[in-house]
Amino acid sequence: MSELEKEIVDSAEVKESKNFIEQIIDKDLAEGVYDTVHTRFPPEPNGYLHIGHAKSILLNYGLAQKYNGKFNLRFDDTNPTKEKSEFVESIKADVKWLGADWEDRLFFASNYFDQMYEAAVKLIKKGKAYVSDLSAEQIREYRGSLTEPGKEDPGSVRSVEENLALFEDMKAGRYEDGSKVLRARIDMASPNINMRDPVIYRVAHMSHQNTGDKWCIYPMYDFAHPIEDAIEGVTHSICTLEFEDHRPLYDWVVRELEYPHPPKQIEFAKLYLTNVVTGKRYIKKLVEQGIVDGWDDPRLVSIAALRRRGFTPESIKKFVELCGISKAQSSADYAMLEYCIREDLKTKAPRMMAILDPVKLVIDNYPEGQTEMLPVVNNPENEELGSREVPFGKELYIERDDFMEEPPKKYFRMFPGNEVRLMNAYFVKCTGCVKDENGKVVEVHGTYDPESRGGNSPDGRKVKGTIHWVSAAESVKAQVRLYENIIDEEKGVYNEDGSLNLNPNSLTTLTECRLEPAFAKAQAYDRFQFVRQGFFCVDCKDTKPGELVFNRIVSLKSSYVLPK
Ligand code: ATP
Ligand code: MG
Repeated sequence: MSELEKEIVDSAEVKESKNFIEQIIDKDLAEGVYDTVHTRFPPEPNGYLHIGHAKSILLNYGLAQKYNGKFNLRFDDTNPTKEKSEFVESIKADVKWLGADWEDRLFFASNYFDQMYEAAVKLIKKGKAYVSDLSAEQIREYRGSLTEPGKEDPGSVRSVEENLALFEDMKAGRYEDGSKVLRARIDMASPNINMRDPVIYRVAHMSHQNTGDKWCIYPMYDFAHPIEDAIEGVTHSICTLEFEDHRPLYDWVVRELEYPHPPKQIEFAKLYLTNVVTGKRYIKKLVEQGIVDGWDDPRLVSIAALRRRGFTPESIKKFVELCGISKAQSSADYAMLEYCIREDLKTKAPRMMAILDPVKLVIDNYPEGQTEMLPVVNNPENEELGSREVPFGKELYIERDDFMEEPPKKYFRMFPGNEVRLMNAYFVKCTGCVKDENGKVVEVHGTYDPESRGGNSPDGRKVKGTIHWVSAAESVKAQVRLYENIIDEEKGVYNEDGSLNLNPNSLTTLTECRLEPAFAKAQAYDRFQFVRQGFFCVDCKDTKPGELVFNRIVSLKSSYVLPK
C-alpha cells in the first residue's frame, strides 16, 4: 500500500463518526427545532459546475437522503446580467449525472421576485428598511471600516410612507440605475460590516432571462437567498465559508420577515484541488480564448469535463467522501481523485490490449497467413465480465519502447537474444530488428515457442518480461489523447505579462494507435483498462463511426507492472 492509500484508508476509518453538519441536524431534530430535513443546491447559472460544486451537491443530496428529507435544485438567477440558458441545461445534466435526484423540486429564484418585493415592503412598513439616495461610492464611504463605525445615511430618517412611495417609484422605473437603493435598517455601528444597513434592492434597467422587462429593481443576494430558502421550506441552508460573516444578516432577514419555520445557514469549507484550477473565472478565460475545447475539455475539472474524460459519478462521490466535511480550509490532492477512479474502474472496466506507439513484430517461424483465436479473460478481478477471443498472427504490433537493440541493465523486455512472454499468447525470443535509412527501428523479429500457448512456460523455464501486443492485420486504428494539468496553480496562474501560464504538454495526441479488434464496438463513454497503460474512455464528442478517439482518464499506478 502506498503512503497515499494508507492515508486514505485511515481517514475513511475515522470518518465513520458524524460530520459537524450531521451533528447540528441531529440536535435540531432532537430539540424539535425542525421535524424534517430539507436541503437545496443553489447554483447561479453563470458557468458550468466543477468538482467543488459536486461536493456541495452530494453533501446536500446525501443529507436529504440520509434523513429521509427533501432536496431542491434551485437556480439562483436573481442577477439579470450573466445568466444563460446553456448553463441551466448543463447544470441540470451534471446534477442528474451525479445521481442527485431533485424529483419535482426544480425551482428558479426569479419566480419569487413578487414575494421578495412584498418582503421588502413588509420591512419598510416595520420601519426596518429605507430608500437611500447615496451613490455606491458614498455608501462605501459611509459604511466605515473595521476600526471605525459607519455614519447614518441621510435617507434613514425618511418616514414609512415616504419610503413606500419611493420604493414603488423605484419599481415603476422612475429612477436611473444607481440613483436609489433600498437599505435594511440594522446598525451602522455594528462590528460586522455586513450589518451596517446593507443594500437589499437596487435599480437596474435590465432584461431578465425569465421575467423579461417586468422588473427594473432586483434584490441583492443576502436578502434574496434567505427568502428563497424560507419560501421552499428549506431547513438547513448549507453554503461555503465565505458566507459565515453574512449569517447574522441571513438570520435578521428570516426573523424580521417572521417566517414560522425559519431556515438556518451552516457553512463548510470549499473543496480545492492542489495545483488544479477550479475557479469559474479562469475556466471562462480558457474557454473564451479558445485554449481549451469548450467547458468540457477533458483537461478541466468541470463536471462535464470529468464526465467526458471518463470519470464515473461513483468515483467523484468516493472522492468527496474521502475529503470529508469540515470548517477548515484545505486542499485535496489530485492524486486522491485519481486513486478513486482507479479503484472504481479496477473491477468495472475490461482489460484489453492497445498499442499507443506501435512498431511491428514479425514472428518468423509462425505459419504465413494463419490466424488463431486466443481466449482472454476480460478482467481477472471480476469474473462477471466474461472473456473474449483475441486474434494472433505472424505480424503483430508491440509498443516501440518494449524493444531496445542495446538495452540497459534490468531491461527485461525485447532485445536480441532475450525471450519474453506475449501476454496471453506465447513465449517469443527476439532475433533482431530491421531499421530504415535513418536508423529508426521499423520491424522487430522473433521466433515463438508453439508449446507455450496461453503464455505458459512449457518446461518450467522463466521469462522476466511480459508485453502486450495486437494483431497487425486485425487491429483497429484509434486516436488516443494523454493529458496533464493545463495550469498549475502552484506555479502561478499568470505569467509576468498577464497571460495565462499554460503547460505546453497538457495535451498529447497519439494518432497511430492500434487496438485489438474487440474495441471496434466501443461506444461513447465506454471505459477500458489498456493493459500496462492506464484507464481510457471513448471521447463522446470527437469519436465518429470507424474513428475511435480515447481520453486517458488516469495512468496505472506504475505503468509497467502487470495488472494481476
Ligand atoms: P465558483 O466561483 O467556484 O464558480 P460559486 O460559489 O460562484 O463558485 P455558485 O453557483 O454560486 O458558484 O455555487 C453554488 C453552490 O456551490 C453554493 O452553495 C456554493 O457554496 C457551492 N460551492 C461553490 N464552490 C464550491 C467549492 N469549491 N466547494 C464546495 N462547494 C462549493
Ligand atoms: Mg457565485
